[in-house]
Amino acid sequence: MAVPVEHAPTAATAQGVDIFRTEHLRKAFKTPDGAELLVLDDVNMHLSEGEILVLLGRSGSGKSTLLRMLAGLVSSSGGVALHRGQPINGPVPGLAMVFQSFALLPWLTVLQNVELGLEALKVPAAERRARAIAAIDLIGLDGFESAYPRELSGGMRQRVGFARALVINPDVLLMDEPFSALDVLTAETMRTDLLDLWTERKIPTRGILLVSHNIEEAVLMADRIIILGSNPGRIVNEMRIGLPHPRNRESQEFRDLVEDIYGVMTARPTGRDAVRKQAPGIGLRLPSLSVNALAGLLEELDALEKSNANTRISLPDLAEDMHFSVDDLFPLIEGVELLGFAQVEDGDIMLLPAGRIFVDGSLQERKQLFARHLTERVPLVARIRAVLDERFNHRAPDSRFLTELEDHLSEDEARRVLDTAIDWGRYAELYAYDDNAEVFSLDNPEAEE
Ligand code: ADP
Ligand code: MG
Repeated sequence: MAVPVEHAPTAATAQGVDIFRTEHLRKAFKTPDGAELLVLDDVNMHLSEGEILVLLGRSGSGKSTLLRMLAGLVSSSGGVALHRGQPINGPVPGLAMVFQSFALLPWLTVLQNVELGLEALKVPAAERRARAIAAIDLIGLDGFESAYPRELSGGMRQRVGFARALVINPDVLLMDEPFSALDVLTAETMRTDLLDLWTERKIPTRGILLVSHNIEEAVLMADRIIILGSNPGRIVNEMRIGLPHPRNRESQEFRDLVEDIYGVMTARPTGRDAVRKQAPGIGLRLPSLSVNALAGLLEELDALEKSNANTRISLPDLAEDMHFSVDDLFPLIEGVELLGFAQVEDGDIMLLPAGRIFVDGSLQERKQLFARHLTERVPLVARIRAVLDERFNHRAPDSRFLTELEDHLSEDEARRVLDTAIDWGRYAELYAYDDNAEVFSLDNPEAEE
């Protein structure tokens, strides 16, 4: 089971064996209109020697930004980031990175691509060659030294990326979703290969930070997992994974951990976050989802409920059933929860009575139910409708609402949220929207009193 981890400094950190440590780290980007986009807030984390730390979070939660700040590639906007006790203010020595996909130079062979990493370090040519060959061997590309990138599969190209990172004998390895562009089998082989290198100490690397949005991958690889929430990215939970390697995905302990993390990642925020998130009013971040996608989830829940004779469906089972990643599934869950059609509790999801009525309803009944839930639960939609009702000509330009949204959200986010409100409100027949004129109007004003 997941064990919460103490935040107080341990004896180890007092002795300074942390590879990385951040305190109240903050990052805000400037948007083109001069506003601040807060991406990371109050991040307190550390990477210790000897551990694989997985940074888990949904897309957009700031994982890559944090990784790049630790690498010294992005400056901070506040707080402290230390590498072995020293403030980070430039590229960190002894560090190698692996990304989702590699920009291999197409006119160089595998060997030459791997050697590149050493040229920058001014390693003599003969040693460069020997070390590159060893790294290629280590990563399982023996025999492909003189192949060109175009002759390799995606998985093999990614192996070249790993070889290029490992050839410098990095003290620390930062990996940003390195397996997420690979097919399922290749990804799994590469995860186990990397774990073998690490657990059998075939690489001198002292610490690994892996960024992921894949819960199973995190539980498979991590000694410790940090879960990052979104808007702004903030650590919401931390857990130690004590299972010995090799880990069995089918074991009960493994599955329990996965389910725990689903629970944590879908839990409603408490404390400081709850205050912030409960009263967003018009600025509520509607997920970008079509009504069809929402209806699809409700129908799937209904079907699972019937076939399992159980009203609680575990989120990992649902994800597997729908072939959905966390990034596909979580916005959908947010959508149906927001609308009051389903509810999540401890990593399980269940239909609420309104959700069941929706599933069983005719198109017209669905639209009416959707309209009611929308107006009651989505302040933006209620506002658009109220403005249209009040106006003499029952029309309003979308700029009127965008301006209001931009008090709470960035320009892009405001547009995105308004687009969702347009889509949902149209389905519910609460209003019409003219895409060319960018104007809202009442569908049938005479019929409305
Ligand atoms: P993740 O890796 O978790 O998907 P990122 O760190 O890539 O998240 O991005 C977090 C947020 O920061 C996103 O909203 C993204 O649009 C924004 N962001 C990232 N880099 C920049 C940048 N250079 N300028 C402006 N915004 C950025
Ligand atoms: Mg990223």
